[in-house]
Amino acid sequence: MGVRTWIDSWPVYRQLKGVDPLGRGAAAKSRDSGRLAPRVQTADRVVKSVCPYCAVGCGQNVYVEDGRVTQIEGDPDSPVSRGRLCPKGSASLQLTTGGAREHQVLYRRPHGTEWERLDLATAMDMIADRVIRTRRDGWQWDAGGLRTRRTLGIASLGGATLDNEENYLIKKLFTALGAVQIENQARV
Ligand code: SF4
Repeated sequence: MGVRTWIDSWPVYRQLKGVDPLGRGAAAKSRDSGRLAPRVQTADRVVKSVCPYCAVGCGQNVYVEDGRVTQIEGDPDSPVSRGRLCPKGSASLQLTTGGAREHQVLYRRPHGTEWERLDLATAMDMIADRVIRTRRDGWQWDAGGLRTRRTLGIASLGGATLDNEENYLIKKLFTALGAVQIENQARV
């Protein structure tokens, strides 16, 4: 390697003399990194979304290839976050493709120590039975002996991965059922 080529290979030298004084582009590239391609390059489409993890609501670009989510990055068009995501939001691809994601209902019986797998229809029937019974047994009554159509026997605590639309529907459903204790982890 000649002296000239050697000096040209220095990022700081290229940054000082070239068209990239902030070192965010060509000046920061090495021969190897110049050959790298972004992992989103082969995506078929980009869907705009919002990070579900907290109330900041950072904008996300969701990259889709062959019907599968392949990457989630910050959306530079978002006036809230301007392309940035915190470590939690940056890891939200795992929500859709992570190996730890459960695809089956897990149930732990009262006093049980192990999780049991249930099919969805069975779980839905169990929930419906309990909601009906709890409402019937748990209505509150006012001083005049009238039923108030509210019960403290049912509560809802949502996880941070529920999105705005899901939370809206959950709030409507549980309020209609008479519940007043409706919370979501993302408010913490
Ligand atoms: S969890 Fe992080 S990326 Fe997601 S909305 Fe909150 S601050 Fe933004």
